[in-house]
Amino acid sequence: MNEKLVAIWREAWRPPDRRPPWAWAEEHIGSIPYSPIPGRFRSDNSPQIREPLEAIVDPKVRLVFIIAAIQSSKTSVGEIGLCHIIANLPGPALWLDQTDDDAKDQAESRLHKLFEDCAPVRALFPGDRHKKRNTTIHFRNGMTLWVLGAHNKTNLQRRSIRWLIGDETWRWPLGHMAEAEARVTAFGWLGKCIFMSQGGEENDDTHRKFETTDMREWTFQCPKCGTRQPWSWEQIEWSKSARDDQGEWDYAEVRRTAAMRCASCNHYFDDSDRTRRELNANGRFIPQNPRAAKESVGFHWNSISAMSWGALAELYLRAKAIARRGDISALKQFYQKRLAFPWREYEEDYKLEITRGGYRKGELWEDEAGVNGRGQLVAAPFEPGDIAAPLRILTVDCQMDHVFAVVRSWSANGSSRLIWNERLLTFDDVEALQMRFGIHPSLVFLDAGYATYDVYRECGKRGWVALMGDRRPTFVHRTKTGKSVQRFYSPRRKVVLGHASHCYVHYWSNLNLKDTLARLRRNQDPERGATWEVPDDIDDEYLAQMESERRVKKGGKWIWERVGKRPNHYWDAECLQAVAATMLKLIGRESVSAEPVKEGAAVDAAESA
Ligand SMILES: [Zn+2]
Repeated sequence: MNEKLVAIWREAWRPPDRRPPWAWAEEHIGSIPYSPIPGRFRSDNSPQIREPLEAIVDPKVRLVFIIAAIQSSKTSVGEIGLCHIIANLPGPALWLDQTDDDAKDQAESRLHKLFEDCAPVRALFPGDRHKKRNTTIHFRNGMTLWVLGAHNKTNLQRRSIRWLIGDETWRWPLGHMAEAEARVTAFGWLGKCIFMSQGGEENDDTHRKFETTDMREWTFQCPKCGTRQPWSWEQIEWSKSARDDQGEWDYAEVRRTAAMRCASCNHYFDDSDRTRRELNANGRFIPQNPRAAKESVGFHWNSISAMSWGALAELYLRAKAIARRGDISALKQFYQKRLAFPWREYEEDYKLEITRGGYRKGELWEDEAGVNGRGQLVAAPFEPGDIAAPLRILTVDCQMDHVFAVVRSWSANGSSRLIWNERLLTFDDVEALQMRFGIHPSLVFLDAGYATYDVYRECGKRGWVALMGDRRPTFVHRTKTGKSVQRFYSPRRKVVLGHASHCYVHYWSNLNLKDTLARLRRNQDPERGATWEVPDDIDDEYLAQMESERRVKKGGKWIWERVGKRPNHYWDAECLQAVAATMLKLIGRESVSAEPVKEGAAVDAAESA
């Protein structure tokens, strides 16, 4: 036997290393190319990569999918896994980058350097240097590794592959992932796919595939209260007053005040590498999709466990500032590269910044319109005797033992100002607030979605109007001339509450009127039409609740969905403001309108539609 065959023979009979790949790598890998941490590989520095590495060698697992932030060791999982595979579980392997050029670069600048620094792999380098080209290596143990581009379809054909490792799959052309997977299927039950990516676009191949896995999320445990929770962007906070004289963000102050709040006990963690190291040390993955097939495992982590929160906050706020000028690319990149989320069309509504309006809570507004004795709209300025009531709307979100009330002033052009918001205990408190601001009872609207009968009874007793959110996009109205038109709210329905008492209820389209509110909120610039304002001294509870819902696509349809378990009461009360203003024809228009809307139909419209 020649020397080469002897080596192969010896290699074949060596017992496989049963340690987890990360423990094996700690012994054998001298350094990771381009790693910010020099010296030997230590999994303590990025403990989130241990479990994905274990999944790679788990015989029950066929797919390992990692979606993670850039510069957070996600490619290292593929690279370290590959070293371990070459030394311990050899079989035909294909590493796919985006293009052939990217693949060549990955092979030269990273893989070859890594192999050189990993003794068990280096020992398997072929003696014949022609067998070790940059993008194809025939190792002495019989294993072949190809490093190729996923764009080139011919790279995805013919070969039968045991190990497929795909990097940055979000950049691959549609359908190429499935094409590559077919090579592994051809190899049989030993074949395995390992994919790595940052966030891409909603519904692309990367995210659709990831959603077939158990979607494990990297979490930490709060040392104060013991609550385990994901590293979540919603928990990163900075001083709301970190602004300069012009009202622009003072980034030094943002960085200085950035902190992470425990979602459960509100403990603030200071922004330091030490904090992150301590929280990562007891990190664990929690499956978000536990019903997935056992052979498909997914891992997700973002930059929050890996980099300065102040630096992230600055990136985010700068991206928001650019987005306000109409260019969303930086904001999109923040979501994809830092949070490792798919970009969604409506993502920018999700954490919309509210600019304060330069006035204080309770202050009245000179642009506020009025309603005259015939129920017609009167634009400011006017004499006090010209109007019967100010155009002030009170909306109320009702819960079991308390309610959330919002008072908004409206101008004749559809601009509005929040002038009061408060959590109240009883319906008498609501009426006291109504009296205090001189609001007409037919401009008081209550959400009847919860405690429906109580709300109906109070509306009947006090002349208020009940509103009920609904899945339908539009509702048919008959006009006085007999035409039918579609509107975002229903004609009023009379609800009889026993003898001599009744109230009126309107249904409204959740999707269309929440969209209306989202559009209204975006504008604080009078040059661009109606503005929507909140006072300088608005409270944090209100601001937090206004970020409680987001627009998502479910089963092919857009819906507004609550984010986690965030309280959304002020958001609901503001939705009712949008409903009422639409009913009063102050804003928006019907989805399908057969006739132009008459001006000055104010209070009548709400009453009789
Ligand atoms: Zn806590």
